[in-house]
Amino acid sequence: MSIKENLRKIKAQLPEAVKLVAVSKTKPNEDIMQAYETGHTVFGENKVQELVAKYEALPKDIEWHMIGHLQRNKVKFIAPFVYLVHGVDSFKLLKELNKEGKKQDRIINCLLQFHIAEEETKFGLDMQEAREMLDSQEYKELTHINTMGVMGMATFTDNEQVVSREFHHLKAIFDELKSQYFSSKGDFKEISMGMSGDYPLAIKEGSTMIRVGSSIFGGRN
Ligand SMILES: *Cc1c(COP(=O)(O)O)cnc(C)c1O
Repeated sequence: MSIKENLRKIKAQLPEAVKLVAVSKTKPNEDIMQAYETGHTVFGENKVQELVAKYEALPKDIEWHMIGHLQRNKVKFIAPFVYLVHGVDSFKLLKELNKEGKKQDRIINCLLQFHIAEEETKFGLDMQEAREMLDSQEYKELTHINTMGVMGMATFTDNEQVVSREFHHLKAIFDELKSQYFSSKGDFKEISMGMSGDYPLAIKEGSTMIRVGSSIFGGRN
Protein backbone atom coordinates (compact mmCIF):
# COMPACT_ATOMS: atom_id res chain seq x y z
CA MET A 1 0.00 0.00 0.00
CA SER A 2 1.06 3.60 -0.50
CA ILE A 3 2.02 6.03 2.23
CA LYS A 4 -1.24 7.88 1.66
CA GLU A 5 -3.32 4.73 1.97
CA ASN A 6 -1.46 3.58 5.09
CA LEU A 7 -1.96 6.93 6.73
CA ARG A 8 -5.65 7.18 5.89
CA LYS A 9 -6.28 3.66 7.12
CA ILE A 10 -4.57 4.24 10.47
CA LYS A 11 -6.27 7.59 10.99
CA ALA A 12 -9.69 6.17 10.19
CA GLN A 13 -9.34 3.76 13.13
CA LEU A 14 -8.03 6.26 15.67
CA PRO A 15 -10.23 7.64 18.41
CA GLU A 16 -10.74 11.38 18.00
CA ALA A 17 -8.69 12.21 21.09
CA VAL A 18 -5.55 10.38 19.97
CA LYS A 19 -2.99 12.37 18.02
CA LEU A 20 -0.86 10.65 15.41
CA VAL A 21 2.80 11.61 15.13
CA ALA A 22 4.04 10.25 11.80
CA VAL A 23 7.61 9.13 12.44
CA SER A 24 9.55 9.97 9.30
CA LYS A 25 13.10 9.25 10.51
CA THR A 26 15.46 7.99 7.76
CA LYS A 27 12.76 8.64 5.13
CA PRO A 28 13.24 11.16 2.32
CA ASN A 29 11.40 14.46 2.04
CA GLU A 30 9.31 13.09 -0.85
CA ASP A 31 7.81 10.50 1.50
CA ILE A 32 6.94 13.19 4.02
CA MET A 33 5.30 15.21 1.25
CA GLN A 34 3.15 12.19 0.33
CA ALA A 35 1.80 12.21 3.86
CA TYR A 36 1.56 16.01 3.95
CA GLU A 37 -0.58 15.99 0.82
CA THR A 38 -3.27 14.06 2.67
CA GLY A 39 -3.47 16.98 5.11
CA HIS A 40 -1.25 15.44 7.77
CA THR A 41 1.08 17.98 9.37
CA VAL A 42 2.49 16.26 12.47
CA PHE A 43 5.84 14.53 12.06
CA GLY A 44 8.46 13.08 14.39
CA GLU A 45 12.20 12.64 14.03
CA ASN A 46 14.80 11.21 16.38
CA LYS A 47 18.03 12.85 15.17
CA VAL A 48 18.71 16.55 15.49
CA GLN A 49 20.62 16.97 12.26
CA GLU A 50 17.94 15.23 10.21
CA LEU A 51 15.18 17.14 11.96
CA VAL A 52 16.81 20.50 11.20
CA ALA A 53 17.42 19.60 7.56
CA LYS A 54 13.82 18.51 7.07
CA TYR A 55 12.46 21.55 8.88
CA GLU A 56 14.43 23.81 6.54
CA ALA A 57 13.37 22.00 3.37
CA LEU A 58 9.71 21.32 4.05
CA PRO A 59 6.52 23.39 4.49
CA LYS A 60 6.55 25.67 7.50
CA ASP A 61 3.17 24.62 8.84
CA ILE A 62 4.54 21.20 9.78
CA GLU A 63 4.52 20.56 13.53
CA TRP A 64 7.85 18.89 14.32
CA HIS A 65 8.23 16.52 17.24
CA MET A 66 11.62 15.44 18.57
CA ILE A 67 10.97 11.89 19.71
CA GLY A 68 14.48 10.55 20.28
CA HIS A 69 17.16 10.95 22.88
CA LEU A 70 18.27 14.58 22.89
CA GLN A 71 21.75 15.69 23.88
CA ARG A 72 21.99 18.96 25.71
CA ASN A 73 24.56 20.46 23.35
CA LYS A 74 22.12 20.01 20.45
CA VAL A 75 19.09 21.70 21.99
CA LYS A 76 20.06 25.04 20.46
CA PHE A 77 19.60 23.72 16.92
CA ILE A 78 15.96 22.75 17.39
CA ALA A 79 14.89 25.38 19.93
CA PRO A 80 13.82 27.89 17.25
CA PHE A 81 11.11 25.65 15.82
CA VAL A 82 10.47 22.34 17.62
CA TYR A 83 6.86 21.92 18.74
CA LEU A 84 7.26 19.14 21.30
CA VAL A 85 10.26 17.34 22.81
CA HIS A 86 9.08 13.87 23.86
CA GLY A 87 12.17 12.52 25.56
CA VAL A 88 13.03 14.76 28.48
CA ASP A 89 14.89 12.34 30.71
CA SER A 90 16.86 14.65 33.01
CA PHE A 91 16.51 17.94 34.86
CA LYS A 92 19.68 19.15 33.16
CA LEU A 93 18.08 18.69 29.75
CA LEU A 94 14.93 20.50 30.85
CA LYS A 95 17.01 23.42 32.10
CA GLU A 96 18.86 23.56 28.80
CA LEU A 97 15.54 23.61 26.92
CA ASN A 98 14.42 26.46 29.15
CA LYS A 99 17.62 28.39 28.50
CA GLU A 100 17.39 28.01 24.73
CA GLY A 101 13.67 28.70 24.75
CA LYS A 102 14.38 31.95 26.52
CA LYS A 103 16.96 32.92 23.92
CA GLN A 104 14.42 32.30 21.18
CA ASP A 105 11.67 34.05 23.13
CA ARG A 106 9.46 30.98 22.86
CA ILE A 107 8.09 28.35 25.19
CA ILE A 108 9.17 24.81 24.38
CA ASN A 109 6.64 22.05 25.00
CA CYS A 110 8.07 18.97 26.72
CA LEU A 111 7.11 15.49 27.84
CA LEU A 112 8.85 13.73 30.71
CA GLN A 113 10.15 10.37 29.56
CA PHE A 114 9.75 7.52 32.01
CA HIS A 115 11.54 4.24 32.08
CA ILE A 116 8.75 1.66 31.91
CA ALA A 117 10.36 -1.22 29.98
CA GLU A 118 12.19 -4.23 31.33
CA GLU A 119 15.14 -3.47 29.10
CA GLU A 120 18.00 -1.68 30.78
CA THR A 121 18.96 0.35 27.74
CA LYS A 122 15.93 2.59 27.41
CA PHE A 123 16.28 6.15 28.61
CA GLY A 124 13.96 7.70 31.12
CA LEU A 125 13.27 9.06 34.57
CA ASP A 126 11.95 7.11 37.50
CA MET A 127 9.31 8.46 39.86
CA GLN A 128 11.78 9.54 42.51
CA GLU A 129 13.83 11.59 40.06
CA ALA A 130 10.66 13.16 38.71
CA ARG A 131 9.46 14.11 42.18
CA GLU A 132 12.79 15.64 43.14
CA MET A 133 12.68 17.73 40.00
CA LEU A 134 9.06 18.81 40.26
CA ASP A 135 9.39 19.63 43.96
CA SER A 136 12.40 21.86 43.44
CA GLN A 137 12.24 25.62 43.48
CA GLU A 138 14.48 25.63 40.42
CA TYR A 139 11.83 23.76 38.41
CA LYS A 140 9.15 26.19 39.46
CA GLU A 141 11.23 29.05 38.17
CA LEU A 142 11.56 27.70 34.63
CA THR A 143 9.70 30.18 32.48
CA HIS A 144 10.27 28.91 28.93
CA ILE A 145 9.25 25.26 29.06
CA ASN A 146 5.75 23.83 29.19
CA THR A 147 5.46 20.33 30.65
CA MET A 148 2.59 18.74 28.75
CA GLY A 149 2.72 15.14 29.96
CA VAL A 150 4.68 11.92 29.83
CA MET A 151 6.23 9.59 27.29
CA GLY A 152 7.42 6.01 27.42
CA MET A 153 8.42 3.00 25.39
CA ALA A 154 7.35 -0.53 26.20
CA THR A 155 9.59 -3.57 26.03
CA PHE A 156 10.09 -4.86 22.50
CA THR A 157 8.27 -8.17 22.81
CA ASP A 158 5.35 -10.14 21.37
CA ASN A 159 4.03 -10.64 24.88
CA GLU A 160 0.98 -8.38 24.92
CA GLN A 161 0.50 -8.76 28.65
CA VAL A 162 3.95 -7.33 29.32
CA VAL A 163 3.40 -4.45 26.92
CA SER A 164 -0.07 -3.64 28.29
CA ARG A 165 1.23 -3.72 31.86
CA GLU A 166 4.00 -1.27 31.01
CA PHE A 167 1.60 1.13 29.28
CA HIS A 168 -0.76 0.82 32.25
CA HIS A 169 2.14 1.78 34.49
CA LEU A 170 2.84 4.92 32.43
CA LYS A 171 -0.81 5.91 32.65
CA ALA A 172 -0.63 5.50 36.44
CA ILE A 173 2.48 7.69 36.53
CA PHE A 174 0.65 10.32 34.50
CA ASP A 175 -2.40 10.22 36.79
CA GLU A 176 -0.25 10.56 39.88
CA LEU A 177 1.75 13.49 38.53
CA LYS A 178 -1.40 15.13 37.26
CA SER A 179 -3.08 15.01 40.65
CA GLN A 180 0.00 15.94 42.68
CA TYR A 181 1.68 18.58 40.54
CA PHE A 182 -0.46 19.61 37.62
CA SER A 183 -4.06 19.48 38.81
CA SER A 184 -4.71 23.08 37.89
CA LYS A 185 -2.73 22.94 34.66
CA GLY A 186 -5.05 22.03 31.82
CA ASP A 187 -2.35 21.43 29.28
CA PHE A 188 -0.70 18.64 31.26
CA LYS A 189 -2.72 16.10 29.30
CA GLU A 190 -0.53 14.05 26.98
CA ILE A 191 0.53 10.42 27.28
CA SER A 192 2.83 9.62 24.39
CA MET A 193 2.92 5.85 24.05
CA GLY A 194 2.48 3.36 21.24
CA MET A 195 4.43 2.66 18.04
CA SER A 196 3.65 0.59 14.91
CA GLY A 197 3.81 -2.71 16.76
CA ASP A 198 1.88 -1.80 19.87
CA TYR A 199 -0.25 1.30 19.39
CA PRO A 200 -3.63 -0.49 19.65
CA LEU A 201 -2.61 -1.72 23.12
CA ALA A 202 -1.35 1.75 24.03
CA ILE A 203 -4.69 3.32 23.07
CA LYS A 204 -6.54 0.79 25.23
CA GLU A 205 -4.34 1.84 28.14
CA GLY A 206 -5.01 5.54 27.66
CA SER A 207 -2.51 6.87 25.14
CA THR A 208 -3.25 10.34 23.77
CA MET A 209 -0.40 10.43 21.28
CA ILE A 210 1.02 7.58 19.21
CA ARG A 211 4.32 7.67 17.34
CA VAL A 212 4.01 5.54 14.22
CA GLY A 213 6.71 5.12 11.59
CA SER A 214 7.02 1.85 9.72
CA SER A 215 3.27 1.20 9.45
CA ILE A 216 3.01 4.45 7.48
CA PHE A 217 6.30 4.76 5.62
CA GLY A 218 7.39 1.13 5.42
CA GLY A 219 10.38 -0.54 7.02
CA ARG A 220 13.69 1.16 7.64
CA ASN A 221 17.15 -0.27 6.91
C1 LIG B 1 11.34 5.02 15.57
C2 LIG B 1 10.52 5.41 16.74
C3 LIG B 1 9.13 5.24 16.72
C4 LIG B 1 8.36 4.64 15.57
O1 LIG B 1 8.67 3.29 15.41
P1 LIG B 1 7.85 2.34 14.41
O2 LIG B 1 8.01 1.00 15.00
O3 LIG B 1 8.51 2.49 13.08
O4 LIG B 1 6.46 2.80 14.39
C5 LIG B 1 8.42 5.67 17.83
N1 LIG B 1 9.03 6.22 18.89
C6 LIG B 1 10.35 6.39 18.94
C7 LIG B 1 10.96 7.02 20.14
C8 LIG B 1 11.16 5.99 17.87
O5 LIG B 1 12.48 6.17 17.93
